[in-house]
Amino acid sequence: MASSLSERLSRLAKELRGQARITEGNVQDMLREVRMALLEADVALPVVRDFIARVKEKALGQEVLGSLSPGQALIGIVNRELAATMGEGVSDINLHAQPPAVILMAGLQGSGKTTTTAKLAKHLIEKRKKKVLTVSGDVYRPAAIEQLKTVTAQAGAEWFPSTPDQKPLDIARAALDHARRQYFDVLLVDTAGRLAIDEALMREIRELHAALKPVETLFVVDAMQGQDAVNTAKAFKEALPLTGIVLTKMDGDSRGGAALSVRQITGAPIKFAGVSEKLDGLEVFDAERHAGRILGMGDIVALVEQVTAGVDMEAAQKLAAKVKSGAGFDLDDFLAQLQQMKSMGGLSTLMDKLPAQMQAKAGQVDMDKAERDIRRKEGIIQSMTPLERRKPELIKATRKRRIAAGAGVHVQEVNRLLNEFEQMQGMMKKMKGGGLMKMMKRMGG
Ligand code: GDP
Repeated sequence: MASSLSERLSRLAKELRGQARITEGNVQDMLREVRMALLEADVALPVVRDFIARVKEKALGQEVLGSLSPGQALIGIVNRELAATMGEGVSDINLHAQPPAVILMAGLQGSGKTTTTAKLAKHLIEKRKKKVLTVSGDVYRPAAIEQLKTVTAQAGAEWFPSTPDQKPLDIARAALDHARRQYFDVLLVDTAGRLAIDEALMREIRELHAALKPVETLFVVDAMQGQDAVNTAKAFKEALPLTGIVLTKMDGDSRGGAALSVRQITGAPIKFAGVSEKLDGLEVFDAERHAGRILGMGDIVALVEQVTAGVDMEAAQKLAAKVKSGAGFDLDDFLAQLQQMKSMGGLSTLMDKLPAQMQAKAGQVDMDKAERDIRRKEGIIQSMTPLERRKPELIKATRKRRIAAGAGVHVQEVNRLLNEFEQMQGMMKKMKGGGLMKMMKRMGG
């Protein structure tokens, strides 16, 4: 796995410690790292260049506030600029039209168009209480028409029949007519996709657009496509006035750079993100959260390294490697963490390293008591045998009593420590699974 941007920048930031401003001289190296991170996240090269130029302009001459290092300040600027580029005030579907409001779905075959059509139908029914009709103009693949029929029923919407011997334009007109007569609020038009861009396909969808005058023309694109998404986006933008983008398969393991590329190339806002194959797997796009994903900020390894910076690097790296490889986090690791906290010169020093918001929370804690607590926990773990530390599940009642006696504490304290350890272990497992962003949101909120 490539190291995350926050990780790289903190490394550079260490060299720049003490400098109060971002200058032409110290920003070059950092911008090179930002550039690498964006390319690794699969953002297209021309888009990266533009973006870096904007960040540089914003960053130069900025005071580096308070205790923040230039590296962290730059992460902040990059993060804000990413969110601003991808973000948009209103993200929901625009239905300001004489009903039925027509929504035209465009995109390559396999991008997730049909699935997204049904997800949108469900969204409009449940969240906006609309009466929704769907129709498929994909006369080249009978299976596609059947697929739309199936998922439309699952979404609780109505489906307008079409057959492969009809012309897409005739189908669309008939569906529009039906929607008008039956007082539907919304008509969702799924269109034919090809495996690659071709002229006939583009002509067909242009004709559909001219006849239907949709209030929304949504470009559906697979987030896993990375660099290729740019060419597709360009072609669709030239053919159609796109009003929005839906990024699908965001539950995959891409770093999501396609979002930035497609947003910049089409100029259209990203409205939704597809996050599962199921019909409830559609989320309103959250630019800030996505910026974090591109930067790889939710990276436990970087966090561990940062918090323990300058302490016992060898131990910290061992722990980081362990979390990365997914190997079990055991009581020995827990003990090592406790000892590191102490060797950092006490908890109050550690506190200075925390971001302001966390400091405020930590400020309510009695530091002396917290340090005594750490010493007691150390004592408990040190009273265990090496085997018990590696396999805490072995620690049953009699062993607990022996450990408590050895450490001079009550059995309840041993239980409390084991609970705490289990929670920590659970957290480590989640972090390995990439759930750190979610967890930090919960802790911060
Ligand atoms: P179309 O050819 O553009 O109509 O694409 P489909 O709607 O048939 O989707 C292609 C495949 O991608 C199907 O297997 C879908 O289940 C899957 N898919 C669509 N959207 C998502 C998503 O957001 N997440 C995941 N994991 N799979 C998706």
